[in-house]
Amino acid sequence: MKITLDSPLDMHLHLREDEMLRNVAPFSAKDFSGAMIMPNLVPPIDNLKRLLQYKADIYDATKGEIFKPYLTAFLKNYTREELLTFKDEIIAIKLYPAGATTNSDGGVEDLSHAADTLKLMEELGIPLSVHGENPKSHVLEREKDFLPTYEQIAKDYPKLKIIMEHITCVDAVKLLDKYDNLYATLTVQHLLITFDDIAGGLLNPHLFCKPIAKTFEDRDALRKLAFSAHPKVMFGSDSAPHPKSSKEGATSAAGCFTTPIALPCLVELFEKFDALDNLQAFISDNAKKIYGINPPEKKVTLEKKSFIVPEIYGDVVPTFAGEEVTWSVVSE
Ligand SMILES: [Zn+2]
Repeated sequence: MKITLDSPLDMHLHLREDEMLRNVAPFSAKDFSGAMIMPNLVPPIDNLKRLLQYKADIYDATKGEIFKPYLTAFLKNYTREELLTFKDEIIAIKLYPAGATTNSDGGVEDLSHAADTLKLMEELGIPLSVHGENPKSHVLEREKDFLPTYEQIAKDYPKLKIIMEHITCVDAVKLLDKYDNLYATLTVQHLLITFDDIAGGLLNPHLFCKPIAKTFEDRDALRKLAFSAHPKVMFGSDSAPHPKSSKEGATSAAGCFTTPIALPCLVELFEKFDALDNLQAFISDNAKKIYGINPPEKKVTLEKKSFIVPEIYGDVVPTFAGEEVTWSVVSE
């Protein structure tokens, strides 16, 4: 049995830089036609020169493959002139509450400080992508506690497209349909696991990410959105590689490297819940409509043939290392 996906897209991806970029980017370029690349680097992506350099580095790391990187800039206060210099190079601007995740320290402390920029983005039609967690709340409540902020932005900037990235809780699912300008991405791990898989038995650092996976009720609400290919929802892996030494130690960095298993696991899951008919919309068509993009034409075929997830790629341990997935990517 085979299934062919048309121009699969990963609308939330961390590719890092330098050696890590060169190690992980080929996996995205093999399985996806394009991806939205996150800007939380040091220093952050926040000007034209840095955008162009990063784009060139990504093309360099993915040579020989059909793969379009859709870049994003880091949200800070930009003047109109600054925004206009790089508006055509980006697909969205990303908001990180300060301290929410990897390299978010330069993020926004108080949204009122970014009001002028948000107004400009609304006017210029630049979507706002948001890591929606309140870093001061309890780790399991951070997303829920951020929802009033989403509501406020949705109301204050009714023409601004707001993407609630990697949503993980049932309350975020409920909020999605309350405002026309709210959209969401879902990761593969949040469709598969709960907090139990991370910490219910032996601690599994390779399933640890932010926002952290939550309850069965939360996971089932996310699954419902994905399996029905809700038109405001798209796939965004949030694949976020760290070297093994940063994941396996006395402390563990947040982030799951899911790129190599994303498509096989999604096909397996959608098949199990009899939702394969909606996978194309979830993996590509919805994102094309939401962002108004036309990614390069690329067919990716998967076959029902088991795949044992390698223990390590370079120095990065993938999610579900050593486990069996029943589908494999067989061709472009
Ligand atoms: Zn992310």
